[in-house]
Amino acid sequence: MIATQKPIEIRKVTESRIHQVDWDNLGFGHVFSDHMLVMEYHNGEWGAPVIQPYGPLHFSPAISSLHYGQAIFEGMKAFRNTDNEVFIFRPEENAKRMNHSAERLCMPTLPEDVFVHCVEQLISLDRNWVPTLDGEALYIRPHMFAIDEYVGVKPSDSYMFVVFTSPVGSYYTSELKVKIEHHYSRASHGGTGSAKAAGNYAAALLPTKKAQDEGYNQLLWTDAESHEYLEESGTMNVMFRKGNTIMTPQLSDSILSGITRDSILQVARDWGYVVVEKRIAVTELIEGLRSGEINEAFGAGTAATIAPIRTICLDGEDFNLNEYSTWEFAPKVALYLDRVKRGRENDTHNWNHVV
Ligand SMILES: *Cc1c(COP(=O)(O)O)cnc(C)c1O
Repeated sequence: MIATQKPIEIRKVTESRIHQVDWDNLGFGHVFSDHMLVMEYHNGEWGAPVIQPYGPLHFSPAISSLHYGQAIFEGMKAFRNTDNEVFIFRPEENAKRMNHSAERLCMPTLPEDVFVHCVEQLISLDRNWVPTLDGEALYIRPHMFAIDEYVGVKPSDSYMFVVFTSPVGSYYTSELKVKIEHHYSRASHGGTGSAKAAGNYAAALLPTKKAQDEGYNQLLWTDAESHEYLEESGTMNVMFRKGNTIMTPQLSDSILSGITRDSILQVARDWGYVVVEKRIAVTELIEGLRSGEINEAFGAGTAATIAPIRTICLDGEDFNLNEYSTWEFAPKVALYLDRVKRGRENDTHNWNHVV
């Protein structure tokens, strides 16, 4: 039983849009399923969730999230196997992280069971929208934003929690070229880097665009204080394999604690790799690339699971890794996690939430 849950009101579409979808060209994030879930917070409590047709929301231009950025989000995926079973990957972790983000942005939290139940009911109604082919998934985007109609800087009293979903193809296809950034920063100590706060992504757009204009796909962010230690790559956590060791920057308040990161590290331990979470200096990375001791480098996140990094640029000098297909760890863990998420592998860690 979900003690804290108010019954979900369901207003179904009169006609599904599912037949209009070009399933062979899903891309990422621009096709939306029939329904969305909306729940409002007023006078210190959450109201009843409503599942309603996906579409525009109406609010005043004075709502505070548009001006002062009280806006947070989550990103997660659901998968469907050939037996028509639907699995959501580790949604409890997204519920926890959304609350972590909410606390940092001075927003109300949501009981974890309510979060999971809301997502589950929405997916259950739109289960035909969950793709079944390899590489595809239903991307789920829960988010929360302030809706007080008030032009003053203070924590809003009212909020909207919305979940919509989007069938997606695979996110990144090619091997990435990344540039080590040592002028701009993504997040600083004491800031909001460990929250999935909308403003963090706005601040990263210009530096990322500059790198893209120079021919790189993404940035490899360094710490804001010294720019000597690695943080993340784009909107992914970053990992390296050095022989039998999987290395990744240790979590801090400037690093987003990725669920993919956590899952990969767990699998690496299961497989007998040594997992090292520590501050990784740019100099250590470059030495490892020069000597050939670093054999793999990749981003980790829900959208791509694993995004192989082929080239790393420091101060105009490119360092290359071998072809992704020759790596021993990342391709194997990507395939393994994909199989777990699709219910094709023994789910030893109880990661799948069955809808
Ligand atoms: C969402 C996100 C990640 C990855 O988190 P997952 O839970 O694995 O999807 C990593 N870094 C940043 C900055 C993110 O926003």
